[in-house]
Amino acid sequence: MTGSGVSARFLIVGPQGSGKGTQGVLVAEAFGIPSVSTGDVFRANISGGTELGQKVKSIVEAGDLVPDELTTELVRDRLSQPDAALGFLLDGYPRNQGQLDDLDEFLRSRGESLDAVIELIVPRDESVRRLHQRAVEQGRNDDTEEIIANRLAIYERETAPILGVYRDRGIVAEIDGVGSLDEVTARIFAALADRGFKPVADAAASA
Ligand code: ADP
Repeated sequence: MTGSGVSARFLIVGPQGSGKGTQGVLVAEAFGIPSVSTGDVFRANISGGTELGQKVKSIVEAGDLVPDELTTELVRDRLSQPDAALGFLLDGYPRNQGQLDDLDEFLRSRGESLDAVIELIVPRDESVRRLHQRAVEQGRNDDTEEIIANRLAIYERETAPILGVYRDRGIVAEIDGVGSLDEVTARIFAALADRGFKPVADAAASA
């Protein structure tokens, strides 16, 4: 359940290597809402060898975007689960204008809308440095030099512009993503609190 009885429909956006996956999970845990990461869902399907995994494997491994229809359907299904009724934390979706429109339409059909967009701001050389480090530590096979460059280019071309749309709606919290993990988490919670979103105490305590 969400803090103070209000909805908590959040999106976290940031370039590859910004730490959005890690921070997204922390926010979701503290608010008692599901974290919905399209990248995680695709990776789980690829390693599980499912039909969806087989369809998207070569696309994800090249660092390209999975077709919008497939991604949107997956997100709609997930957000239709009962645990997402009052809130969710989207990570990695929407990533372009088409997906933004799809999400708007879906939420509107349910009388809902996004409450806050957490934008993690990390300079390009810092995110590239972190991705190289992650490549060494985790061996994600889309973390090679060429594929990282492709993913960052897609981010800058397709994903960064959608922030302008959300900015015009007044829902973007701009967070400096450079610093320790705890410092960045604290900045996110402070920015959400400024907007009236406070985590539930018991969820925060067990997070
Ligand atoms: P990163 O942001 O570091 O690239 P993600 O885990 O968010 O990592 O995504 C990994 C890959 O999954 C992407 O490169 C892309 O192939 C696919 N993917 C994730 N989200 C989407 C999306 N919303 N639309 C299309 N493809 C996606």
